Amino acid sequence: MNAPGTFTLGPADGRARTGRLSTAHGDVETPIFMPVGTLGTVKSLCPTDLRDLKAQIILGNTYHLYLRPGDDLIARLGGLHKFMAWDGPILTDSGGFQVFSLSGLRQIAEEGVTFASHIDGSRHLFSPEKVISIQRNLGSDIMMVLDECVPYGADRAYTEKSLGLTTRWARRCREAHPAGDRGQLLFGIVQGGFFKDLRAKSAEEIIGVGFDGYALGGLSVGESRNEMYDILDDAAPLLPAERPRYLMGVGAPRDLLAGMAAGIDMFDCVLPTRNARNGTLFTSLGRVNIKRAEYRDDDTPLDPNCPCYACRTFSKAYLRHLYIAKELLSYRLNTLHNLTFFSVMMERAREAIREGRFAVFRAEMEALYPETDEGKA
Ligand SMILES: [Zn+2]
Repeated sequence: MNAPGTFTLGPADGRARTGRLSTAHGDVETPIFMPVGTLGTVKSLCPTDLRDLKAQIILGNTYHLYLRPGDDLIARLGGLHKFMAWDGPILTDSGGFQVFSLSGLRQIAEEGVTFASHIDGSRHLFSPEKVISIQRNLGSDIMMVLDECVPYGADRAYTEKSLGLTTRWARRCREAHPAGDRGQLLFGIVQGGFFKDLRAKSAEEIIGVGFDGYALGGLSVGESRNEMYDILDDAAPLLPAERPRYLMGVGAPRDLLAGMAAGIDMFDCVLPTRNARNGTLFTSLGRVNIKRAEYRDDDTPLDPNCPCYACRTFSKAYLRHLYIAKELLSYRLNTLHNLTFFSVMMERAREAIREGRFAVFRAEMEALYPETDEGKA
């Protein structure tokens, strides 16, 4: 097995590329979509389900796990992998994004960000050192630095000032977790809002600190799709080619395709799991809203091309019935299906890149998933 952090690039097609990232809990083939397991569970699924649908790495949320059940408790019980019985790679965010979305309940200072828990209102401080300590307790394979996610619409002066803070926090995170420590990787995050020169400045500063991988943060925060793609196309090539590149919080199919085309290797988003619970299902024939009356008597499978248990076993009529009746099984089958669709889509994307036909694959997928604002928070 390769040392954690080893990143081997495979065939590329234009800027889209394949690769393999080694972690302490196994290798990840890129480009990859990472299902979100906010509270130490990908909602409604077991680790065996995740294995079956070929999830290679999942994401956990530092903010949520710190508040409940607490990172100290998880550390005492052997770390997050053992606690949730998932022995594959885990990436944890820094908690910054959740804290910054608690507008009105948080205060930013040089030291860190103070916030009130959404559970009981208790006050907490997330400093760069604190979020590293939490992620070390969780034992995640890939940790993220604390950054300020600049809100959409922030002006240039604010964005530039915030970028400086993000860089200083990144340095403190690196000092709190030296390279190679415990086999846990640490990724830096590039901010800079919607100003291309500030993105370039942030990239230069964050790369200067030196990390195992680099993320683009502060996208999919309310901007239009074209604004996002404009920044993505410009900023992705600024990240070192030899390290994994991660586009945070982006997950609509056409956004994944745009990301891969720009040279991004890793993605995460609650979109497939949240939409599953809302009855919006992604299929090889396009989007299906399972609650619609047209499926009442439909005894065909949700997606004839999908290998998941739901599609192999049940009809659309049954899935609709479960959804309308708010049966627990509805959440489980819908989640199983949507994550299988994303897993298969990424596998096909990797194949298309290796075979030099990514543009054709992208056009086919975009035709199935035409322009909507879905997935743009
Ligand atoms: Zn399916």
